[in-house]
Amino acid sequence: MQEISKEILKKYQVRKTRKQKTDFIDYIKQKYPSACVEEGGFGKNRNIVIGDLASAKAVFTAHYDTCAVLPFPNFITPKNFIIYLLYNILIAIPFLALMPVLYCVLFALSQNFIISYYFSLAAVFGIMIYVLMLGKPNKNTANDNTSGVIALCELMASLTEDECAKCAFVFFDNEENGLLGSSFFASLHKKEMRQKLLVNMDCVGEGNNIMFVISKKAEQFRAQFSSSFKNTENKTPLFEKAASAFYPSDQINFKTTVAVASLKRNPVFGYYMDKIHTPKDTVCEEENIRYLCDGFSKFIKLL
Ligand SMILES: [Zn+2]
Repeated sequence: MQEISKEILKKYQVRKTRKQKTDFIDYIKQKYPSACVEEGGFGKNRNIVIGDLASAKAVFTAHYDTCAVLPFPNFITPKNFIIYLLYNILIAIPFLALMPVLYCVLFALSQNFIISYYFSLAAVFGIMIYVLMLGKPNKNTANDNTSGVIALCELMASLTEDECAKCAFVFFDNEENGLLGSSFFASLHKKEMRQKLLVNMDCVGEGNNIMFVISKKAEQFRAQFSSSFKNTENKTPLFEKAASAFYPSDQINFKTTVAVASLKRNPVFGYYMDKIHTPKDTVCEEENIRYLCDGFSKFIKLL
């Protein structure tokens, strides 16, 4: 791994507060003097852009913001929507169970049905937002999404100057708060991004199954992807249609996209990711990053 990747893992792994993000942005600007920060939109996003978007044939992206620490993981099963849905309902139950309690207290105090109902509803949503988004920064973000950030840095280092000129690289802000940074970027660069391929890496650090979720408009690149990424002793690439694999990340704000994530496999519920958003998010396998850089280097030559 490059020195920059080691340093990001060591010193810049927590990027949640304004100050933590500013430190990271300053570090990236120091390492890549051509990097520019695009600021604005809902959430006062600061996206970091490297390269010329207008002439790039592909844009590689990863969100750099990190999440609040949660007592339960953000459990993702891209190929099993029922499990994903059931898990999220399970998580919502304790929050929703609070509502009747709050309602009873408010009704006892106010004797007003409307006030009690809407205040308890608003309070439950407020608590949910606080716990899920505004809570204490998670100290360990090796997979989500320091792995994606490092993958971008390693990819830039592995490309020749000509290959680099074919691409642009974007570090998105505020993915964890609702894909806000990428949404701002999409609105700012509507024209440049209309037909352009966007490859988003989010949680690529743990698991031997490297999933590529290909949108309908990106199907034109499927052959190049499958010839660039082959089975190795430890890693298996999986090429999936966006209609049959749900991966909630920044690529959702664009049309011609490939979402990349690494997953483990369970014989019962299939491919999954299980530690992100908790203190156990400590694994960023060097082999995954190398596999992606090797594959993307081949892919970029074909563009
Ligand atoms: Zn993420």
